[in-house]
Amino acid sequence: MSNPRNIFIKKVLETSQSGDFEIAMSEWVCLGKKTNLDNDFYSNCDLCGAAIYKTNYIICNVKTMRIHSIGCECIKRFKSSYPSELVSKLKRVIFKINYNINSLVNIIKYVIKEYLIQYCLNLLE
Ligand SMILES: [Zn+2]
Repeated sequence: MSNPRNIFIKKVLETSQSGDFEIAMSEWVCLGKKTNLDNDFYSNCDLCGAAIYKTNYIICNVKTMRIHSIGCECIKRFKSSYPSELVSKLKRVIFKINYNINSLVNIIKYVIKEYLIQYCLNLLE
């Protein structure tokens, strides 16, 4: 693999905790992919600016919690640097957060519905 471009190194260092490029690269984990059918698909790589046609890879820095959407060339530079166990742990945490937000939304919906029913019944009386 060729050496990373300067813009890539600059962006990685800017959004990582470590000022050492090798260490900074190890702070990033891949959370998943998006395709060009998803609404929030980015057509340019955050790190090198290259055009992306099909797949965004979402990477997250475990120290700074910054997130980038990057292309298939740049993700290759991260592939060897993330431990897969950490990835699955992070995915579980994110799933849990989503799950909790969803249940909260459902509770709020239920309360509003009950309130509206009560309100309408009062009007009829
Ligand atoms: Zn790129």
